Amino acid sequence: MQAGWHSLLRRGGKILRLSASLVVPSARAGTTPVRARQMALSAAPALRSFSTPATPDLIRTLPGLARASQGQNTLKVWWRNGEPDEFPYIWLRDNCQCPACFLDTASSRVSRVTDLSHDVRPKEVYVSEDGASLRLVWEDGHEGTYTASWLHERAFNTTQQGVHENFYKLRPELWDADMAQRIPRASFDELMEDDAALLKLLECMEVLGFTVVSGARHEEGELHRLSERVSYLVPSHYGTTFTVKSKVEPSNPAYTGKYLDLHSDLVFLHYKPCVQLLHCITQFSGDGGDSILADSHRVALQMRELYPQKFRFLTDVLVNFRDVATDEGFEFDIIARKPMISMTPDGEIKTVNISTTGRDSHFGVSPKDAVGWYDAYLTYCDLLYRPENHFLYKLEAGEILIVDNLRILHGRTGYRAYEGQRHVQGGYWDWDMMRSRRRVLQKKLRESPSGV
Ligand SMILES: [Zn+2]
Repeated sequence: MQAGWHSLLRRGGKILRLSASLVVPSARAGTTPVRARQMALSAAPALRSFSTPATPDLIRTLPGLARASQGQNTLKVWWRNGEPDEFPYIWLRDNCQCPACFLDTASSRVSRVTDLSHDVRPKEVYVSEDGASLRLVWEDGHEGTYTASWLHERAFNTTQQGVHENFYKLRPELWDADMAQRIPRASFDELMEDDAALLKLLECMEVLGFTVVSGARHEEGELHRLSERVSYLVPSHYGTTFTVKSKVEPSNPAYTGKYLDLHSDLVFLHYKPCVQLLHCITQFSGDGGDSILADSHRVALQMRELYPQKFRFLTDVLVNFRDVATDEGFEFDIIARKPMISMTPDGEIKTVNISTTGRDSHFGVSPKDAVGWYDAYLTYCDLLYRPENHFLYKLEAGEILIVDNLRILHGRTGYRAYEGQRHVQGGYWDWDMMRSRRRVLQKKLRESPSGV
């Protein structure tokens, strides 16, 4: 039942798979999703190796330089494979690699911007005999040398820029309820010991947005251990980690046995945490306590396709999110104002801010716009709760669910809190640190492929 990681993480494939059956709007669909099949835990679910290197785009042959010629604002170079590229003079001068301009140990520019002029240009251009480097002498006499490989990696063409894009951020593969049949899994012990397993987890988090880790101890503290391998734990007003149990005078609805709608965590913070971890220490043995998962980005794209005008309500209307309570003696009143669907400047879904419990009753719009917004919101939720768009998975003791809190919505079915104690410890990670760790591991494992 465990899906091969290499197939889950294939890159460059089509991101969105919109099934034709989803394009027909209908009345509110039934809300009984397919429960994910439980995986046998007797054997640790080892991660399979990739059939291709983890970073195929970074491993390539670099052509040498053939020649160069000066244009008005750019230097045109030809590689020995016949391909040309153009480099702006100002960019070349700004990125001079000489020790006066660039500090190798910090990989940082140390030249002053005040020394950079609009019309800078070289007076002499030399390509080395072996094609391995380019030397420029600028009009003020300053000299700099660039290796061919350094220039090639930074070439201003879509192929090279695409390679860097893939290093910056892996492309997500959006999913539907079928994901219940191929839940990505990792082993806690392997993640602690094996860099290749850790790299696969980090890649999976970027591509699929969630993973179930098994084999953690049935006690608090495992999130701290795992975090030492990945990212620091990002604290919130609920602490560095938080304990999800039914509590007397709960400071949050999660601390009851009630059904929790699909939501992202801590929507009332302007810096909403990036990734959530939920370590199941004790599970409720009766019916209930299941996690619910849905890919909010996929559903948002469906919404844009099916109801473009309603979609704009969700991207344009600002909503108040608020958290007012006292948790372990700490009193807070936190408000953030943002649209339910946040977009990137280039029109991609950035995050979906949805939380029944964290959305405030203050609403700074006209009554007419409020009615329009509710119509759009309920339409989005209709799509979200269609059986094909979400699934249930009941965590077992020793499992850690990791979800991208900017993309994957999670919820929990209700359970009888007074019968036995369900005990989960939660925490948050940061995407910058996780992607940094992924890049460092990619470089490390590329340099010593035996580690893959
Ligand atoms: Zn220089």
